[in-house]
Amino acid sequence: MNAPAELFNQHLIDPEICIRCNTCEATCPVGAITHDSRNYVVMADKCNFCMACVPPCPTGSIDNWRMRPKSAAYSLEEQYAWDDLPPVLTDAELLAMGADASAVATAVAEVNAQSTTRQNGVFNSADYGATVPPWSAAHPYTNLHGPKAPISATVVGNVQVNEAGTANETHHIVLDFGHMPFPVLEGQSIGIVPPGVDAQGKPHHARQYSIASPRNGERLGYNNLSITVKRVVEDHDGQPVKGVASNYLCELQTGDAVQVIGPFGSSFLMPNHPKSHIVMICTGTGSAPMRAMTEWRRRLRQSGKFEGGKLMLFFGARTQKELPYFGPLQKLPKDFIDINFAFSREAAQTKRYVQDLLRERSADLVALLKDPNTYIYVCGLKSMEEGVVLALRDVVTQAGLNWESLGSSLKQEGRLHLETY
Ligand SMILES: Cc1cc2nc3c(=O)[nH]c(=O)nc-3n(C[C@H](O)[C@H](O)[C@H](O)COP(=O)(O)OP(=O)(O)OC[C@H]3O[C@@H](n4cnc5c(N)ncnc54)[C@H](O)[C@@H]3O)c2cc1C
Ligand code: SF4
Ligand code: SF4
Repeated sequence: MNAPAELFNQHLIDPEICIRCNTCEATCPVGAITHDSRNYVVMADKCNFCMACVPPCPTGSIDNWRMRPKSAAYSLEEQYAWDDLPPVLTDAELLAMGADASAVATAVAEVNAQSTTRQNGVFNSADYGATVPPWSAAHPYTNLHGPKAPISATVVGNVQVNEAGTANETHHIVLDFGHMPFPVLEGQSIGIVPPGVDAQGKPHHARQYSIASPRNGERLGYNNLSITVKRVVEDHDGQPVKGVASNYLCELQTGDAVQVIGPFGSSFLMPNHPKSHIVMICTGTGSAPMRAMTEWRRRLRQSGKFEGGKLMLFFGARTQKELPYFGPLQKLPKDFIDINFAFSREAAQTKRYVQDLLRERSADLVALLKDPNTYIYVCGLKSMEEGVVLALRDVVTQAGLNWESLGSSLKQEGRLHLETY
């Protein structure tokens, strides 16, 4: 008689509601998540059930599990082809696949015993990113409108916010929700569902965009919000490509209707308590959530309700002309926000990246990092994340502080937030 089939709880991603935001792939400490042009998938032979990917997933699509015989684990090819998840197998079906009743019980016990496993010795910036919000964050609404029932918003503005004719054309787009509920907080994002279908004839999946306006509207008191969109004209390897959602968004006209899902995000949120400091580190469209937080504090200050707390901004771009919102940023009072720009391709200037700025301003940063009321936000290109966290580590270490213990507090107290894409 054959031995009963060994069972395991296979970790799967629901392709129907996943918005392909890459957060899980960036978070997984053992590289168990990958994707093709259609689906994000989990490698059964690599996943150790550490659950690190579950809290950051904005849609909950990562939190899916199917008991299966190990010998019949869903392959990557099968997962790539799915439009929705396969059904949960009943005990009778598991028995028919060669399991016995005790194998089912053992598998359940194993699932309960699976524990966190982290890679040792390898620096991974994601290890320091918080998955919890600051203690004084306002409570966010999330997933009010899912991919199966997007909400329609009307475009009420679409302007380019960096200099025309430069690379990385970036637009500031304002969407109005009329009387439909779409309450948001600074640091949250929305999903845009582009019209049409992909190469396989399936509806395009939603793309995620950070909200660039404060909680009470791009236009104060209106049910609207703004996003900052870079027109993607080449892929990450520099090959020409017409990004589906970003080109659609950049070409929208006032009065057009757009399908929106969300809001998403429950940890990249700003602190609201008096004297809380915010350090913002960004590149390109990573400035969107920073604009939202800055504008909220600027409105509080205007209304006389702002109770102190420093704002420090480190903003990187290739050139000044490419940098979104350069003009409006220049107009902010110096006693309100401490702005530091880094340009990496400005003619006749030495290349500077945000990491260089962090090191240059180390004395001020260390004073802020020592203060438990300081919250740090990093947003922009994926490629900046590791360099920024390494620079923070250097700044801390050179000041004679212990990075591992400070880094761990930053994470646990919701004080270091990483959102890169
Ligand atoms: C949490 C989160 C927040 C985001 N916030 C913003 C935001 O505020 N503003 C914004 O513009 N984008 C933002 N993005 C990226 C956005 O979701 C889209 O990925 C981006 O607009 C490209 O979508 P697309 O449909 O135009 O390109 P696709 O058709 O999806 O991709 C076309 C090709 O371009 C490559 N590509 C994708 N994104 C980029 C990029 N940014 N630069 C260069 N090549 C790229 C792809 O790998 C692919 O090869 C965010 C992403 C995440 C996960
Ligand atoms: S559970 Fe852990 S190992 Fe598995 S995919 Fe998620 S983060 Fe990776
Ligand atoms: S929505 Fe969740 S499962 Fe999908 S890519 Fe983002 S984090 Fe991963």
